[in-house]
Amino acid sequence: MESGHSKKRIAVIGLGAMGCAALLALARQGHQAEGFEQFRVGNDVGASGGRTRQHRLIYGEGSAYTSLLLRAQALWQQLEREQQTQLFWPGGFLTVGTPDSPWFQAVERSALQQQLPVERLSREQLRQRYPRLNIDADEQGLFDPAGGILLTHELLLASVAQAITLGARVHEAASVTAIHAAPQGPLLTINGEERQFDEVVVAAGAWSKTLLPGLPVASRRLGKSFHLGRESGFDTTRFPPTMRVTAGRPMWNTQPMPDGKTFKFFVGDAEIDEQKDPQIVATEASSALTGTLYQRLDRQMGEAVNGAHPAIIGGGTWPEAYTFDQAPLLGELRAHPHVWVAAGLSGHGFKLAPALGELLAQAIDHRVDLDRQWAIFSPARRFAEPTASYSR
Ligand SMILES: Cc1cc2nc3c(=O)[nH]c(=O)nc-3n(C[C@H](O)[C@H](O)[C@H](O)COP(=O)(O)OP(=O)(O)OC[C@H]3O[C@@H](n4cnc5c(N)ncnc54)[C@H](O)[C@@H]3O)c2cc1C
Repeated sequence: MESGHSKKRIAVIGLGAMGCAALLALARQGHQAEGFEQFRVGNDVGASGGRTRQHRLIYGEGSAYTSLLLRAQALWQQLEREQQTQLFWPGGFLTVGTPDSPWFQAVERSALQQQLPVERLSREQLRQRYPRLNIDADEQGLFDPAGGILLTHELLLASVAQAITLGARVHEAASVTAIHAAPQGPLLTINGEERQFDEVVVAAGAWSKTLLPGLPVASRRLGKSFHLGRESGFDTTRFPPTMRVTAGRPMWNTQPMPDGKTFKFFVGDAEIDEQKDPQIVATEASSALTGTLYQRLDRQMGEAVNGAHPAIIGGGTWPEAYTFDQAPLLGELRAHPHVWVAAGLSGHGFKLAPALGELLAQAIDHRVDLDRQWAIFSPARRFAEPTASYSR
């Protein structure tokens, strides 16, 4: 317990990447933290499912994220030591695009502004180093050596294990159905029973809007397919996580699995459908929609990668909450004192979650003023028109 603040009873609703990170950060600060997950921790239903996530330090989304990304790295390294387990596979991250593409330029600008090491690669260098990628004649590469792959389920389970070691409690198959304001602090209905807390953190991903209907997020379905390399060259060194960002051409994204043989594939924009009900997203795995999505993934993978078996060997769709500017929502809700939101991670939040969880815990302890210092995440900010987006 750190001095200077009192121990509070704090509920965290939802134990995906965000909830697990918040629970651990609150436990580290000595609070009586309790996590509630409607399924199991490490489930494959929410946005944190699907085995792996890519990590990058050079961030086209804006330099404001760099300090958070560095902090997140330090936090999962600490967790690796505490839990004696590997959570991150280094190997770098590659951005491919034409030099005039806005996203390519944003990545280059971010490296320059933050003075981060980056390697610019010509098409010829790309072809020699990464023979499995099909690169167009006018495309180049930006290699971020600090990038790599995060093991999602391992990270969630390790966070929760560490939080429990520090005194947190975790309830699985515990569905929160309502949050009510009360003089002593928010009242939660959990599996039909009411419990009171001093503070409540809503980290329910795409389900957050079910609990807080006014929340400015839209739920979307993202699909990825798994493939098997037929030839060699699918290890992280020769086939690093890669994002193709050339304007006007399909955005795709490859991610090697730590086994060095299988990889994950994603196609941007067109494959994202608005979905109102995350529960539908979670249960539609075998529907016709998924079939259409798979056809598109299969076709695009064949164009982007060579030396892989044509068959899709697995995959799925996961519901994710997007804000209209694609920056997360992090802070206390003005209309609901003591109710905090940590949601809307908008397709790029896995790598940020540990740092966001820590910020939230510090804000609950009045050590950070989120509205002032991190206004870009304010749940009360005004949004412009919705923009197109994709997972990264
Ligand atoms: C396919 C895909 C690829 C992505 N790729 C990347 C990437 O490469 N890099 C990256 O950084 N980010 C990536 N992202 C984004 C990142 O994975 C998500 O932003 C992040 O995992 C969201 O975490 P979350 O905790 O907000 O949501 P979730 O993981 O969905 O967690 C919410 C949890 O809350 C639980 N819950 C919901 N309602 C209730 C309730 N009422 N009571 C109790 N429990 C409840 C749910 O069961 C769920 O477990 C990707 C996202 C997707 C979907």
